[in-house]
Amino acid sequence: MRKYWGLVLSLAFVISCKEDKPVTDEIAEVVTIEKPVVVKEFGFNLDDFEVLRDTVKNGDSFGELMLKNRVDYPKIARVSEHFRDTFDVRKIVVGKPYLILKSKDTINNAQVFIYQNDPINYTVVDFRDSVLAYKKKQKVKYVEREASGIIESSLSEAILQQGIDYNVTNNLSEIYAWTIDFFRLQKGDRFKVIYKEKYINDTIYAGASGIEAAYFEHNGEPFYAFNFVSDSTKNINDYYDDQAKNLRRTFLQSPVQFSRISSRYNLNRRIAYYGYKVRPHKGTDYAAPIGTPILATANGTVTESTRRGGNGKYVKIQHNGTYSTQYLHMKNQKVKKGDFVKQGDVIGWIGMTGNTGGPHVCYRFWKNGQQVDPLREKLPAAEPIADSLKTDYLEFVGPKKSQLDCIEYIELPEEDLLTLN
Ligand SMILES: [Zn+2]
Repeated sequence: MRKYWGLVLSLAFVISCKEDKPVTDEIAEVVTIEKPVVVKEFGFNLDDFEVLRDTVKNGDSFGELMLKNRVDYPKIARVSEHFRDTFDVRKIVVGKPYLILKSKDTINNAQVFIYQNDPINYTVVDFRDSVLAYKKKQKVKYVEREASGIIESSLSEAILQQGIDYNVTNNLSEIYAWTIDFFRLQKGDRFKVIYKEKYINDTIYAGASGIEAAYFEHNGEPFYAFNFVSDSTKNINDYYDDQAKNLRRTFLQSPVQFSRISSRYNLNRRIAYYGYKVRPHKGTDYAAPIGTPILATANGTVTESTRRGGNGKYVKIQHNGTYSTQYLHMKNQKVKKGDFVKQGDVIGWIGMTGNTGGPHVCYRFWKNGQQVDPLREKLPAAEPIADSLKTDYLEFVGPKKSQLDCIEYIELPEEDLLTLN
């Protein structure tokens, strides 16, 4: 089934990048953001007022600020009495920007107070008639962006060098947390990404928003990621690859197919051989005939492939910043230190090397350097795309995939790299 989807995708969306020019034209168009002479701000024509812009200083209180700008005390009191839910005057935060719109006449008193809760949300206190307070949002425009890069030393460096928001790095590492170990990127790994930038009132940059689609090539292996709403009623969205598989792959239940658990993780295990003394067992044993393939339970990099003491021949794989897994008593390893392995790859074969009474693999699960019981560990659930949505998904993803494929890699000139170091 998976192979079938992959085939459909690769056949259906082979589109020449040059024919697909409108995409780039569209982007070129939105990239130019005009800087109009701003007259209207926060819904007010600022020309009608004398405008005072400042930020809340240590010791400032709303009441004093208003008194200083000739607002009558009863009006100030009304705000805290009647509009506490909208604007709690006690909760103004030092450093937040505000505007006071004053009358241009000789009285020159504050007519409107605008408090900027954050770059998007603001609160208006209007003193002009009877006092009124309300919350509003700035108009936010989303502009689609494309970026790409080739890793020299780190992902964040490759992204920051191009002046791209740090959020993009963050989002990428979250999307791929279960697929790629970002601590072990290789020089030459490369990526492409389609994301959105937020602009307030068409002019003020307010940060990068979520990634829509991404491509990451790690050790020559391609990994696509597409953001897709998999449940519109619950508004659940997630990232899936080009074959509709969820990227938040959790670990395989067991490193050996068709095996049985012969001994579970047990910190109080007592063994007859050792005179019934406590011999904690920090692994889960899966018994299977000698020569049965042992599989990597998740993508990762081999950090150890060696023979040592009671462990016998073993392999250890680091999956991300948190998790590693280890596989003991192998007959032989199939991978060596530094290899990148994918979930389900054969990494060795069941054997009896080291301390063992019979053929099995002792599977050890490390979390932040401690051995834990994987069967009790709360691992992120990876909901698959419902079969009924797969057609929709593939239709949705097709053009995005072509768009990604058409992004060219940006290679920074050598001088730029030097000056930035
Ligand atoms: Zn064991």
